[in-house]
Amino acid sequence: MAEYKGVMAYCEVTDGKLGAIGTELLGGGRKLADDLGEELTAVLVGSGVGGLAQEAIAFGAEKVYVVDDPLLKDYQTDSYVVVMEKVVKQVMPRVLMLGQTTIGRDLVPRLAFRLNTAASLDCLELSIDPDSKALLQTKPVYGGNAYAVFTTEYYPQIVTVRVKAMSPLERDDSRKGEIINIEAGLDPSAIRTKVLDKVVEEVEGIKLEDAPVVVSGGRGIGSGDGFKQLEELAKLLKGAVGASRPPCDNAWVPAGLQVGLTGKIVSPELYIAVALSGSSQHMSGCSGSKNIVAINKDPEANIVKQARFAVIGDWKKILPAFTEKVKELLAG
Ligand SMILES: Cc1cc2nc3c(=O)[nH]c(=O)nc-3n(C[C@H](O)[C@H](O)[C@H](O)COP(=O)(O)OP(=O)(O)OC[C@H]3O[C@@H](n4cnc5c(N)ncnc54)[C@H](O)[C@@H]3O)c2cc1C
Repeated sequence: MAEYKGVMAYCEVTDGKLGAIGTELLGGGRKLADDLGEELTAVLVGSGVGGLAQEAIAFGAEKVYVVDDPLLKDYQTDSYVVVMEKVVKQVMPRVLMLGQTTIGRDLVPRLAFRLNTAASLDCLELSIDPDSKALLQTKPVYGGNAYAVFTTEYYPQIVTVRVKAMSPLERDDSRKGEIINIEAGLDPSAIRTKVLDKVVEEVEGIKLEDAPVVVSGGRGIGSGDGFKQLEELAKLLKGAVGASRPPCDNAWVPAGLQVGLTGKIVSPELYIAVALSGSSQHMSGCSGSKNIVAINKDPEANIVKQARFAVIGDWKKILPAFTEKVKELLAG
């Protein structure tokens, strides 16, 4: 156990750029590494990713491990899990952090299995136990209705962290660090899948996962037309529209707007939940929001209990008045 040292952040590369989640992990990882008195490292995996190492240093990494190989152009489980196993066995970090993203969710259980260790997914907060130096992992349980703190006895301690749960450090290009290349050493025949085509999701305005304000509607909205009023408010607040599952199932809104267990996970500053009950499956996707405001006709609805502020009544009366007030405040 003593040989595992330091904190490593897996930095995803999206369209040739360092993804925001990587910089967030470096921000959170910096504090953990400082508390441990150990090193913060970053790992970059992909094709043509070496040029981003300096950026990872500017965001706080002391060392960056780069695995750059044309076979790693697209994320594929077979290749990335082999490469990450190699990196972890070589570097032996005490803590390995990934984002709670499609990649993180896919990679982490497989990687933990190969490394004979445990993993905690969807963490919201991480800290170091000052006595044991173990990583304490706070994550939502019971569909986001409670939080629990976990730790594991196996090393490396692997976690995924929810998007926006941590804040990046201010970029500082004068920070110095070391860049270390690691050969992928992949056997092409071991990669059993091929990426044939990529379809880019068309998003008008700000992406749901990145929006500082989300206005979400539920079954009580009743129609696609009803969602136009939510769009108007979201636009005014420079936010995005989300939904519970019934509006997506009923095709009132695209399926990509679903928030929850089987949808997107969001952690905005403000989550306005209109005519949705706050089922545990829905709360799984929005319980990390900094402030929840509920508009619901049922004072007993779970979302009302979870919300910081709630307005009880018919959304058709409340929302237009609310939107008018926002317009007035923005104009004044
Ligand atoms: C495996 C699994 C995965 C799931 N994944 C998800 C998921 O990812 N996301 C998700 O959302 N759900 C998910 N669900 C579905 C989930 O269980 C709930 O059925 C769903 O979240 C309910 O949606 P709702 O709150 O919009 O509808 P309801 O529970 O029907 O609530 C409607 C709410 O609107 C209020 N309302 C009605 N009319 C008005 C009005 N005029 N003014 C004000 N308030 C009004 C009501 O008081 C009520 O609280 C999943 C279910 C399963 C089994």
